[in-house]
This record gives sequence, C-alpha cells and structure tokens, in this order.
Amino acid sequence: MKYISTRGQESDDRLSFEDVTLAGLARDGGLYVPEYWPILEADDIANLAGLSYAEVAVKVLYPFVEGSLSESELRTVAEETYGPQFAHAAVAPVKQLSHNEYLLELFHGPTLAFKDFALQMLGRLFDIFTARQNREICILGATSGDTGSAAIEATRGRDTVSIFMLHPEGRVSEVQRRQMTTVIEPNVINLAVKGTFDDCQALVKESFNDLTFRDNINLTAVNSINWARVMAQVVYYFTTAVSLGAPHRKVSFVVPTGNFGDIFAGFVAHKMGLPIEKLIIATNSNDILAKTLQTGRYAKGQVKPTLSPSMDIQVSSNFERLLFELTGRKGKDVAERLTQFSDLGYFDLEDSELEAFRELFDARQITDEETSDLMKEMLCETGELIDPHTAVGVGASRVCLQDSNAPIVILATAHPAKFGDAVENATGTDPELPAKMADLMDRDEGYGVIENNGPALREMMQKFRESK
Ligand SMILES: *Cc1c(COP(=O)(O)O)cnc(C)c1O
Repeated sequence: MKYISTRGQESDDRLSFEDVTLAGLARDGGLYVPEYWPILEADDIANLAGLSYAEVAVKVLYPFVEGSLSESELRTVAEETYGPQFAHAAVAPVKQLSHNEYLLELFHGPTLAFKDFALQMLGRLFDIFTARQNREICILGATSGDTGSAAIEATRGRDTVSIFMLHPEGRVSEVQRRQMTTVIEPNVINLAVKGTFDDCQALVKESFNDLTFRDNINLTAVNSINWARVMAQVVYYFTTAVSLGAPHRKVSFVVPTGNFGDIFAGFVAHKMGLPIEKLIIATNSNDILAKTLQTGRYAKGQVKPTLSPSMDIQVSSNFERLLFELTGRKGKDVAERLTQFSDLGYFDLEDSELEAFRELFDARQITDEETSDLMKEMLCETGELIDPHTAVGVGASRVCLQDSNAPIVILATAHPAKFGDAVENATGTDPELPAKMADLMDRDEGYGVIENNGPALREMMQKFRESK
C-alpha cells in the first residue's frame, strides 16, 4: 500500500506505511491516507467470526501495511499489542444493555481509555522502524488527557524515542495528569501549556510545518493525525459488528467524538465493506462537528471546559480526512478550504458533499447536565457505571437512533475511574481504580509549565536533543 496527502497534488511522491508512520503529518500540511480503500468481501468478513482479536487485526490491517511489514511481522506486533496488558481476555468486550443496545468496552488497556488500542501498537511499530533505519526519533504530541498517558506508556524507557507531551494546564482530570506526570524517565518530558487543547495542537502543527526543525530532530507525531493511529482502531469495528451478525446484519455505532479519529476509523471500516447503518457523532458542547452536519459550515468556536475533557476540542483534525473523501479525493479543494479555515475561521461544504456526509453520519451535542443525568440513569437502569464521555454517547444514541432496528453499539471510550469526580458527583458512587493503579495519587510527579510559544518550545526541544 502507498499513501498520499489529503492536500497532495498528483505529482507528489507516494510513501510507504513505514514512511508515513515515522513522518506523522505530510510535508504539505495535509494528513496521510491510503491511495485506495482495500475491500473485504462478505465471505472474508464472515470468516472473521470466532478469531482472536489479534488475528482479526492481522486480517483487517495487513493490506494497509503491506510492503512495510510481512504478515508474520504484523502478527507478532498484533499478538504483543493485544496481549496481557489488556485486562480483559476478549480485549474489546461487547456488553448488552437492552434488547438492541450494546456497550463496546474499550478501556481495558494499560491507561484505561481506547487510545491504548492504537498507541500500544504504534510504540511497537516505532521500535521496528527506528531499528531498521538506525535512527532516533523525537515525538511531539498534544493531549486533552488520554493520548498523552497512552503514548507515554507505549514509549517510556525507549532509547531511540524521546517524547514531549503537551497538555493544557488545569484542563485535564487529576488521574489523567498523574498517569502522565508520574512517569519519570529520561526520555519522557511532560509540559503543561498555558492555554487550551487547541493551542497545544496548534503548537504541534506549527512545529511540524517548520521543516528545518522537523528534519533536524526527526520529529514524529502520535496524535491521530498519524495514520497508524486511525488504522489500528478500524479493527474493533470489525470484531464488534461480526459478533453482532455482520456481514448479514447492519450495525450502528455511536462514537464520543473530539478529534474525529475514532469515528473516522468507523468510516474506514465502512469503506472496506463492513455493513454499517449509521455512525453517530456524539459531542459535548464543543460541537463544531455536530454544527457542521446540521448547517454545512465548519466554523471554529471557543473551547468550553466540560465534564468530558477529552472531547474539549473545536478543531477536529481528522475531519480533513473525511473532507478529502467528500470532495471526491481532490487535494487541491481540501488545501483551499483549509487555507480559508486558517484565514477566516470557517469553510462551507457544498450541497452534494453535505448530502453524502449525512447519508452515513448523524450527530448530536449533549450538555453537561444531560451527561450527569445519563450517568445516573444508566446506573439505575442497567447497573453500569459509565464515564462522562460514554454518557455523551448514550445521550446521542437515544436522540438519533430511537427508531433503529439495527443493533446500536455505543463506544465506551474510557474507564469511569479516569473521571472519578464527575462520576461520583453524578451517581454518588466513587469508581475504583484498578489494582495496578491504586497508588497513583501517591506517586511523585514531574512536569514543566510553559507559555503558548512555538519558537521557545522548539528551542527547548533542540537543546534537549543536542544534550543527548
Ligand atoms: C480521545 C477521546 C475521545 C475522542 O476521540 P477522537 O478520536 O479524538 O474523536 C473520546 N473519549 C475519550 C475518553 C477519549 O480519550
């Protein structure tokens, strides 16, 4: 498989999976996407039934990595990734809530959110590719909470990888912060930025667009702008749909959404032939995507802090990948719209694009008050303690899919203990951290606090690199 940029022109080089994994963001500012969508036929999908999670990963992902990894190398990566560090033997278990509602539990990984599915794999891919190319890489990431801990957990203590992780100061939960800042390793640098997640993400993009800096330190991305992140997440759409009757039955997925990475993985599964009825974008009051679906205009708003901080995002980077598809894969159109977005703060979808968007997707925004009510209702009705992000999914599902005959799967994106305060305030029950994290609140922390200043950040990173 070869990869192209969402802003690319036809004459551009086509890159391998190895290249795009190490590069992260395309040099023209776009995001990498595969040159075409590989198809699994109905028989191939039916044959996934009964396979282990790791084996489904091999079948679904091999077309994307072909040319960079052999099937047996991929199998080793998948078996190591989805092994004992996932606390549930099914890796991504599906739990039935009512006659046609299901929770997909994606929080059994080492840092208790779905980000582990992709980052545990990405860490192993970095090991393989840096060893093969005999080079050291420097990761710069921005986190609204969960990417940071998952990326740090996946790369801590590595010789060939340094990781700088930016989080918005005071805007992540205490468990989220401590999962990052209590990892004291020479290759891990945690930085709290005086600003929002969008400011952190802008610092990352700005650093990538400084091509000299980028080349000097072998800059690499772990945010879902990195294709390998999105790719790894495609697998659980397949395992889940197959367990509920695919390819003979369509399934709908409700995805608590921020950066549009997780739900874009659902779109990829659909493109690959998985019968999906609807993909529901569930957002908190940071609702740029829900508004886009409702009005056709993608317009930047102010970030508001909510009970679901991992979705406090107003610029959803991966929407660019969908836009590329909606325009019929016209890189020039995408580049023009994104330039307008950075100049004027918005762009519009054409009528035909909006229609195509609405055909598969629907969207709903859920307030904090509704989120708290939903956590409480779920505990009363089903006995399940859910986290605030998952509650946003439950809320959107009840509005958008009232009359659905297809099974409805709500992605449970985080463990309730990760957002213990919000869960306890809503339900009166304090969710317990799993045993291996029980002492998290007592561990030593280390992190720096920096201004929202790109040149200063890059100078700091350069100095760190030179001192190695
Ligand atoms: C990252 C995250 C999301 C949002 O996922 P995107 O891929 O950014 O849309 C939702 N819930 C939780 C718990 C997360 O960590």
